[in-house]
Amino acid sequence: MISYSLNNMAITIEKEGASHFTKAGYPMRFGKYSEIRTSEYEFQFNLKGEIKFIRGLNVNWPHPSEWLKRTDGNDWVFYSVGAVIDYKGIIDCVGEYYLPCLIYPSNSLWGFNPYTDPNVSKAFVAWSQLYANLYEMQRRDRIPPNIRDFLSLIFSNDETTLHKESKKLHSIIGERVSVLPPDTRHVEYEVIPLIIADGCLYHCNFCCVKSPRGFQARSEENILEQIRQLKAFYDCNLGNYNALFLGNHDALGAGDERICMAASEALGAFEFGNSYIKNPVLFLFGSVDSLLKAENKLFRNLSSLPFYTYINIGLESADAPTLASINKPLKISVIRDAFQKMLAINQEYGNIEITANFLLGEQFSPDHYQSLAELLRSVPDSSHSKGTIYLSPLMDNQKRPTIMDSQKRNDLLQSFFEIKKLNRLPTYLYLIQRL
Ligand code: SF4
Repeated sequence: MISYSLNNMAITIEKEGASHFTKAGYPMRFGKYSEIRTSEYEFQFNLKGEIKFIRGLNVNWPHPSEWLKRTDGNDWVFYSVGAVIDYKGIIDCVGEYYLPCLIYPSNSLWGFNPYTDPNVSKAFVAWSQLYANLYEMQRRDRIPPNIRDFLSLIFSNDETTLHKESKKLHSIIGERVSVLPPDTRHVEYEVIPLIIADGCLYHCNFCCVKSPRGFQARSEENILEQIRQLKAFYDCNLGNYNALFLGNHDALGAGDERICMAASEALGAFEFGNSYIKNPVLFLFGSVDSLLKAENKLFRNLSSLPFYTYINIGLESADAPTLASINKPLKISVIRDAFQKMLAINQEYGNIEITANFLLGEQFSPDHYQSLAELLRSVPDSSHSKGTIYLSPLMDNQKRPTIMDSQKRNDLLQSFFEIKKLNRLPTYLYLIQRL
């Protein structure tokens, strides 16, 4: 770590954050990063010199533990510590000490839009101003060579370049990741995406993140080419990743050989064993059919890899009319079988965890909630809390990014807490995050 003071700024390069993802109610940083602190803001950069975090240090900033984060998809996300949730603790709702606020319809459950707060907007103005000031300074002042190199990295990542880089990432993998598995919250949504299959089986009518394509696995050549290009894309910042997302909406359907080939090749190429952040993690989505078709061999092979693997399955409902209303062409018996298989795999494999999603919304009948309660009652005491249940808040106006009125919001949260109370498994709200 090298520190330097320059015109009321403290510049630190290659600062070391935590080497394990940990849940905390204060701003924790993971891996290696560089930082510029002014009297008003803290700006943090990844090892490519791309802006990653901004946190206000002035009295007008909403809360000292809140910050803005820029994703590899070039979205800015405000991390709130929960002043917005006036109901119960944020940790009870989402399993984390913070709420990442991306503007999606289902995320509007909180009735909170930090981007309309002028004190948040001012952070972006401050970032532009810092960029301009640094540019002037490096032309004018004597600066040690390593700090000068760091500043050059920042200058090579202006807004246009950052936008182009996100497009490049999407072009390497062939599409934007419209939603990450909810389990990626365990690594702060910091995953390397690798697409092994496109499209999905069901095309449910409630889904605002689906692709129009039918399910199609990618070829081995395509997967290997993505890995080669992704390694070059992440470049010197690769060491800050310990997690792989095998996409897209039903990677489990790509089958044993393709999943294990992709995971093993990525493990070697991305050198997760040498990451600054320990304990590699693998994430996948799977459909009900893919889970039921998956043979023991797949789980045995996955468990022999050095990943902790999360597979997230969209079960949605155990009530036939509800399944019909969302256009999910599955029988209740199949949903129940998938749920039991999830419990069995979670018991059997120490490093594989299957999690499931169900829908939550005022438009669903009491039978939807009743059948869900019955299903959850079948969870044995010995489940060891493995297998989180995520409830996806769904609104009638799902496709429009509006803020829900407070009465509807409270009703939905009330339903959520009722389900959470009777479930032996961890139960949280599903937040949609894209990449
Ligand atoms: S919920 Fe899953 S299966 Fe249904 S349309 Fe969306 S991505 Fe496809």
